[in-house]
Amino acid sequence: MSNPLDLFSSDYHVAASRFREAAARVGARLEQHAIHEPGETPALTIDVATVGSARPRQTIIVSSGVHGIEGFFGSAIQLGWLSRLASGALLPPDDVSVVLLHAVNPFGFAHRRRTNEDNVDLNRNFLDATKPYEGAPDGYASLDPLLNPASPPFRLDPFRLKALWYIQRLGMPALKAAVAGGQYQFPRGLFFGGHREAASTRLVRTHLRHWLGDADRVVHIDLHSGLGACARHRLLLLDTADSPELRWYRETFDPETVEPASDAEATAYDTSGTLGGWAMASLGSGSVRYRFVTAEFGTYSLVRVLGALRAENRAHHFGRPGTRTFERTKTELLECFCPRSEQWRRAVIGQGLGTIERAISGAIHA
Ligand SMILES: [Zn+2]
Repeated sequence: MSNPLDLFSSDYHVAASRFREAAARVGARLEQHAIHEPGETPALTIDVATVGSARPRQTIIVSSGVHGIEGFFGSAIQLGWLSRLASGALLPPDDVSVVLLHAVNPFGFAHRRRTNEDNVDLNRNFLDATKPYEGAPDGYASLDPLLNPASPPFRLDPFRLKALWYIQRLGMPALKAAVAGGQYQFPRGLFFGGHREAASTRLVRTHLRHWLGDADRVVHIDLHSGLGACARHRLLLLDTADSPELRWYRETFDPETVEPASDAEATAYDTSGTLGGWAMASLGSGSVRYRFVTAEFGTYSLVRVLGALRAENRAHHFGRPGTRTFERTKTELLECFCPRSEQWRRAVIGQGLGTIERAISGAIHA
């Protein structure tokens, strides 16, 4: 790989075909799973590339684009890893396989949205079978008019001021919990977790066990952006600070970046229906040790990112595609989840590849 900036693709279809080509070049086993969405040509697919042992003892999974638009940066990291492999970098050890899940939410990637074809935030959609797709966190309903105005966006909108006022009044933790925890009540609202299992969710649930091979040790890195300090990453765990697992994470990854679930300074917020929560609960029981990190790469302030999500969501539901306002919301959303800054892009590629390499070498010592 000569220039990390070349790893970023201009759109979903370009990214998906580059991913498939790069995977084929290193002899990866490839799967393509279509998400059937009427009117989409070429088809939207989740592409899966597996490298290394066919009967692994350990499997490293790297997933991108659970939040569609974050696929622009996640795809670049996956492509970077495949390119490194092609250029003769060390192959994973004999008993390790590496599985790359490309664009878990291909619709959102293709249409520059965080959510899927039904406005569903997939990382709130992985509810276990006992939980209904219902309800909303305390406080969401009262914030609904602020977050989800039922009108197209316009240029001069004092959202940031209003948001700051709410932060003052409620405090950041309460606001984060109310806003981002996941809700199942407002189908056009932000952080909507769906009224049923989404197609992507079903697909991952159906195939994940097969993708793992027979591995009894799994490390899953789910790539995300838009939360935290600019151009820096945090590895957000579902394990709490008192978990015996914490040591492994700290010894494997840069310990400064590892954030257990209960950390008071946590970047994360309590969420329901996450991919990681589901995977650890349903696959990490019994003889399989399932370790999961949400790798979050920061971009801009929370208020700017939230403002961008809100404006794009308004444009999607109430605006007209092709208009300048509509396009402006897409451009800003992309900037918030994959900034154009060369410095940012170089930094996230370096950190992302480093994290994957550490997971692979950490697997050996697990
Ligand atoms: Zn995300």
